[in-house]
Amino acid sequence: MQACDAAIQKVQTALSKLDKLNNPADMQKLIEQFGPSAATPEGLAKIKNVMESTLRGLEYTKSAGGANLDLQDFASGATSGIPATAAAVSIGGGKVIFSKDEVQRKDISSLAETMTHEMSHAFAGTKDHWYLDGRGNHTSTYRPGGQERDVAPNAPTFANAVDNADDIARAVSKLSA
Ligand SMILES: [Zn+2]
Repeated sequence: MQACDAAIQKVQTALSKLDKLNNPADMQKLIEQFGPSAATPEGLAKIKNVMESTLRGLEYTKSAGGANLDLQDFASGATSGIPATAAAVSIGGGKVIFSKDEVQRKDISSLAETMTHEMSHAFAGTKDHWYLDGRGNHTSTYRPGGQERDVAPNAPTFANAVDNADDIARAVSKLSA
């Protein structure tokens, strides 16, 4: 729940920056994350919309005392359909299962990014068009229903980026840093 509180703060901070957007560095961060369409009023409105829905999910989680969250051991392979290496999965109905291993290993800040990623799935309907590595490169995505991340990333369009959980979560981290 600490990660949920941290994520709420981060998304609120990111949204307040998008509301003003008087800092060219913030605009640059958005363009780096989503491409030049982020600088248009329509593009910016779409990004805000996804972040606002994500924030509603985080606030719901807080008000529910985390009742929609679960912790499981993915690495054991006992959780069918969930890759052993997944950090967390959104299973619908606002429910998110976190990997026990990840929760023990990661710090609050990266768990907050994972929480934001999952809540963007659950409450803003984002997909995994690709994952982002630490340097922001697009890596492969899941084979639907499969166990491995062995599918080529989808096309790096603005529409996909704004609908991509990792880009939303990473943009929140950068804007709130
Ligand atoms: Zn995801």
